[in-house]
Amino acid sequence: MTTPDIIIAIDGYSSTGKSSFAKLVAADMGYLYLDSGALYRGVTLFAIENGLIDEDCNIEMEGLMKGLVGLDLHFENHGNGTELYTGERCIEKEIRTLAVSGKVSPISAVAEVRNFVDSILHAAGRNRRVVMDGRDIGTTVFPDAELKIFMTADPMVRAQRRANELKAKGEEADIMEVLKNLQERDYIDSHREVSPLTQAPDAIVLDNSNMTFDDQMVWIKDLIEKKFGNA
Ligand code: C5P
Repeated sequence: MTTPDIIIAIDGYSSTGKSSFAKLVAADMGYLYLDSGALYRGVTLFAIENGLIDEDCNIEMEGLMKGLVGLDLHFENHGNGTELYTGERCIEKEIRTLAVSGKVSPISAVAEVRNFVDSILHAAGRNRRVVMDGRDIGTTVFPDAELKIFMTADPMVRAQRRANELKAKGEEADIMEVLKNLQERDYIDSHREVSPLTQAPDAIVLDNSNMTFDDQMVWIKDLIEKKFGNA
């Protein structure tokens, strides 16, 4: 049974489980997995560590533009799944903190930052056979993706999942603070001028509020079989 040479674009709201789902789909199909949000988080960490964004999220644009020119962000896999690196430094843990989550949406609203991330994503998707997750993969990055999924879930379910994730990593997580962060990010992501989060007209909605990962895999395999004739 052969798998089709397609791009699977998984977009949607914050903490709907896009990355976990996309990783499972990629592993199941033998595809490359790319987490576009990690790249935006990597740029944000760079901005924080270099004093290019303040507490009120004012961005020092000139410094950020200069920084992007030499910024190396890439994925490596040393047996723990795909992790984000800058040079030889693994920054996977740092980019998942609430400190980064609190500043990533303003950073990713900057057009030059989006161009920077898009160029990395375009290079990776050249030969199809890739699953990418994000906010604008099916609308802007790969509008010609053969399969587009738009993920959503009840906000409280999402907040609880993210809080559990943070706690598992040893970070303090107040559920109401997490919920506020999700809602703020959803608002900024959906209302920004450049490439806002929106459902592509040809995307298929997946509301996973009451679904396990197994349920979601059954759902997508069925979809792929119907659409492409194999799974
Ligand atoms: O997916 P994740 O929650 O890690 O993404 C972090 C942030 O990166 C999002 O809240 C959004 O602001 C930004 N993002 C984006 N476009 C993408 C992926 C992520 O603007 N394709």
